[in-house]
Amino acid sequence: MLSPRRSDGSKRMSKELVFVLEPDSGRVTIEISQTARSDIRQLENDLGAGINTNCAKPAVASSDRRPTFNPDLESFAAPDNSTLCLYRIYHNSITDGPGRRSVIQVAGCSIRCRGCYVPQTHERENGSRVSITSIVAEILANRARHDGVTILGGEPFDQPGPVAELVSRIKHHGIHLTIYSGYTIEALIARKESSVNYILTHVDLLIDGPFVSTLAGNAGEYRGSANQRFIGNATIG
Ligand code: SF4
Repeated sequence: MLSPRRSDGSKRMSKELVFVLEPDSGRVTIEISQTARSDIRQLENDLGAGINTNCAKPAVASSDRRPTFNPDLESFAAPDNSTLCLYRIYHNSITDGPGRRSVIQVAGCSIRCRGCYVPQTHERENGSRVSITSIVAEILANRARHDGVTILGGEPFDQPGPVAELVSRIKHHGIHLTIYSGYTIEALIARKESSVNYILTHVDLLIDGPFVSTLAGNAGEYRGSANQRFIGNATIG
């Protein structure tokens, strides 16, 4: 964590900034959610214009794996737990939880927060039904590219059965797991569903709560809005 000086070296910025340097890709990511507009303009003067990114919204899409739509595999009305409605998988994310992460982004969200960054994930029909086995194979094949895996959406808890199966398979390999949900943990516990309870007791980190656009300004790292909470597994249990 750095507190950089302005380009003339005379005055410190008002807030600390988090710089993440990636030597292999040449990328610099700066966490700016609590930074004054004037300081952001100064950064752009020094470094050039950036690309906005956020949780579930990666800056670089080149490593995305969008499933190929296959009508033969589509069965949204009667899913089983061996397949998941997937929007995409992407790797090397530093905005979707601690460290560098591979991200499984599910398709389908019934919550529909106002101002959601990823409305393209709301409809299940925008994704494809993909086997859990092939998703886990993709994660394991890219293990050198991540410190852990994040499942987000869309809304993972709209598909609790398949996501519980995915959680089981990922944790079997000892991989750190973060899940984002637009539901609060209280609402999830109140559902009293075995699949939901399994996920909550096996995930390492839950980031819960809906996106609230009026609280987006000072959200801090990994969160879309400040109401969302970091809940570790010990707390969940
Ligand atoms: S829960 Fe997530 S994906 Fe769904 S509308 Fe809210 S922010 Fe968007």
